[in-house]
Formats: sequence, C-alpha cells, structure tokens
Amino acid sequence: MNSANIPNVIRNYINGEWVSSSSDEFLDIINPATGDVISQTPLSTSEEFNSAVQTAKDAFPSWRRTPPVVRARYFFKLKDLMEKNFEDLSRILTMENGKTLIESKGSVRRGIENVEVACGMPTTMQGDSLEDIAEGIDCTVFRQPMGVFGCITPFNFPAMVPLWFFPCAVACGNTFVVKPSEQTPLSQIRIFELVEEAGFPPGVINLVNGDKECANAMLDHPEIKGVSFVGSSHVAAYVYRRASENGKRVQALGGAKNFSIVMPDADIDKTVAALTDSAFGCAGERCLATAIVLAVGDVYDELKGKLVDAAKGLKVGNGLDESVTMGPVISAEHKERVIGYIEQGVKEGAQLLLDGRDIRVGDHPNGFYVGPTIFDNITPEMVIAKEEIFGPVLGIMRVESLDEALDIIHGNEYGNASSIFTTSGAAARKFRHEVGISMLGINIGIAAPMAFFMFGGSRGSFFGDLKAYGRDGVEFYTEKRVVIERWF
Ligand code: NAD
Repeated sequence: MNSANIPNVIRNYINGEWVSSSSDEFLDIINPATGDVISQTPLSTSEEFNSAVQTAKDAFPSWRRTPPVVRARYFFKLKDLMEKNFEDLSRILTMENGKTLIESKGSVRRGIENVEVACGMPTTMQGDSLEDIAEGIDCTVFRQPMGVFGCITPFNFPAMVPLWFFPCAVACGNTFVVKPSEQTPLSQIRIFELVEEAGFPPGVINLVNGDKECANAMLDHPEIKGVSFVGSSHVAAYVYRRASENGKRVQALGGAKNFSIVMPDADIDKTVAALTDSAFGCAGERCLATAIVLAVGDVYDELKGKLVDAAKGLKVGNGLDESVTMGPVISAEHKERVIGYIEQGVKEGAQLLLDGRDIRVGDHPNGFYVGPTIFDNITPEMVIAKEEIFGPVLGIMRVESLDEALDIIHGNEYGNASSIFTTSGAAARKFRHEVGISMLGINIGIAAPMAFFMFGGSRGSFFGDLKAYGRDGVEFYTEKRVVIERWF
C-alpha cells in the first residue's frame, strides 16, 4: 500500500499473514481534510482477536529463546525500512488523521526513535548482579519476557503510539497484538507491511482492527499478560479496572487538561511562539497541548494580544498542502463536540477573542475544520476550564501569583503535562517541585519525553504505575527473577 494506492478495505495481520476479517461490520475511514471516504476498516470479532492471541502465544516460546541481539536485528531492519518509507508513511498519516505533513513527519520520527531504542535492548534489559552478598554466595537478577502483551491506541497519533509499545515489548522477548484506533488504522497497516518485510517470525507481532469488542477481548483474554492503553480518561479508567481485575499488568494513559504558566519575566515572543504551537498544533488534538494559559500579573495584556495575533496568522486547511499550518479535527462528530464546548464557554460568560466556529476552507467544504479559538475571562469553575476539549481552543486566565496558578492546576482533575515560561530559576524550581504533574516543560510548550525516557501523566491522566516506554517500558514488559547461588 502507499498513499496513492489505499485498499478499499483493510485487513488484519495475524500469524505473518494478511487476512480479511470475517466480520460483517465495517467503518468508513474518512480523510478529515476533505470528508472523503478513503477506505474501510472491519470491526473484527472477539474470535478473530482471540485467534491472534493464540498465534502470539504459539510464537512466544521460540521468540523468547531467540537471543536478544538477534531479536534486535529485526528492529534494525524495521528502522531502515521506516526511514526508506518515511515520506509516504507521513503522507498516509496526514490523510487519515488530518495533521499537517510536518506534524506527521515529526510523529513518525518519534515512532522511529522507539524502534531505535528497541535496537539497544541487549543492553537495556540487562539485570543486576553482585558477587559475595555473603561469603561465597552471588546474587543475580534476570529480566525475562512474560508472554503475550497487547496495546489499544487512540486516533490522534496513530503511527507513533503503537510504536511506544510493541518494539519495546517484542525486543524484550514477548509477542504482541496491536489494536489500533478504528478511526485511523491506515498508517499502522503500512507499518505492519514493513514489519512483514523486516521478516519477524509469524505470530510475533499481530494487528487486529476493531473497536471495543476487540479491546474487551484483550482485557479478558487469559493469555494476555499485560495491556498498554492510550486514549480518553474514562476509557483508561475502565481498561485499568477490567484488565487488572483479570490479573493483568496495565498501563493506561488517559486524557488531559494542560495548563501553562507565563511569569512576568518570560521572554514574550518566544513564549507566544511555543504556546501557539502547543495550543493549535495538530488542531489541539495532542494530549500535551496547552489548554489554558495562566498569565501572572501584568504580562496578561501583552500576552493576550500577541497570542491572538499569532493564532490569526495560522493557515487552516488540508495538511498535505505544505503552506498549511493547522489541519482539521478528526471527524464531523468531534467538530460538533468542539463547537459545543465553544458555545458552552460563551454561555458561561467567557469572552471570545477569536472565534473559529465559522471557518471556511474554500477548496474543502466538507472537511472538519474548526479555526483557532481563544477565550478570555475564564474562571476555573467553568466547564471549558475543567474538561478536555481536544480541539484548537485556548483559554487565557489572569492570576496574580505563581501560587495562585499552582492552586488552579491542583484543582483540576487531570495531571498530564504542564509548562512554565520564565527567566527565573527560582520560579522554575518552585513550579517543578510543587506542581504535581508528570510531564513538565520549562520554557517548552510541548513537554514530550523522548523514547529513552518515559511518557505518562498522573492523577486523572494515568492509571497504573509504570509509564510508557524507556526504562519503565522494560520493567512493564519483563518479570524479574533473582537467583542466589553458592557452589561447594
Ligand atoms: P478513545 O478513548 O475514544 O479510544 C482509544 C482506544 O480505546 C481506541 O482504540 C478505541 O477503540 C478504544 N475504546 C474506545 N471505547 C472503548 C470502550 N468502551 N471499551 C474498550 N475500548 C474502547 O480515545 P480517542 O478519542 O481515540 O483519543 C483521544 C484521547 O486520547 C484524548 O482523551 C487524549 O488526551 C488521549 N491521549 C492520551 C495520550 C497520553 O499519553 N496520555 C496520548 C494520546 C492521546
């Protein structure tokens, strides 16, 4: 498949083969920039999902015995194939999701970095050892793979998010089943064609397209050892509950409402550039997007004007056009939802400084566009200050101190990301120390940790303990064994 040749109906990849689903339920995959149907995905049945788990289970014993250095070589091949197909893969991603081509390339790059980290697994998954814990006795900790893992992923980073999980799990010696978002499965299909080309043994990595029926089959299947989930918080909480009740490991990354603090001493122009990208990049459909700016003291008036000017400068349209700087939101329903929030904000008494509701993109009248929208006069009690909108809607609040800003952040149920813009080390340190959020930016608008760290929020944005990828990923996908030995 390539961006010029997308199949009418996509298939599942099970046991090293592309198989048509036997389901009689299908969903249109719509290019959000044009409103055109570009393919269809089956909503596979739980039986189909279970058959993928069975092949992954069968593949596990021999994959587990494959030396880590040999397992890593498959990922070197995958990395090479992803580089060769980088441009077209990014194009497919823009067509299914709507983000601009530059944004697509950025996220595919981030995904490739996860594959690169998997290439280093022979070093990363090493255990610990100590000679002579008592006289003549040595102690060694090994990390061992556990069996079959799976992931359930969201629409907004459909190429990248599955790559947060399966390279790490599989390089550790597990086998895997991916259930991508049913709204945006195409880039993952292309990645799995590259998985096939890289020559992974049949059954080691599988892909089953579907919706909650497949997801529930994963949460319930006795052979699934653990589930990595990314999506909205209410589903994350449910996934965490149901999978952990079934005795599985779970890492469930949820939704977000991210606050950025701007101190009076911040470099305003650089701050405005960072916040504009953070709030409106990917049409606001990032779990790390700034939703509310807390402007401390007198910086408020200047910041407000400059943010509105910068947002007005964005060019909204089809992300395949390289001059476009903001694409559509994912679907007609989501567009209605975002507009519903804007209307709610107006009803609650917030003031619209910039209204994106009536935007028209001339050559794409059926695309799902919402223009950049900025609210002023927001209070922390308003629905638009509390709930995740997941669209290009930014609120600005004036606060009098860093303490007041921190209180507002502490009052929100989410805890994914937060940023501060300042030239004061003391303010930055206080923020880092007290904010209680997991992914923090200091003069950074999108605090996205790279593949060799860890990714995941706190409070209502995360359910579990070990975060996604990095060392946490290795811990999540392995069981530690400790051996104490004495030789007479
Ligand atoms: P979603 O929760 O609707 O869907 C995510 C996945 O869960 C999909 O694969 C879907 O098929 C499945 N699913 C949906 N309902 C289910 C149910 N009732 N039972 C079992 N499975 C179900 O999320 P979305 O709309 O695709 O993605 C947007 C959300 O993801 C936003 O809330 C965003 O903040 C969040 N997100 C979070 C992070 C993070 O790192 N915390 C990253 C990206 C996106």
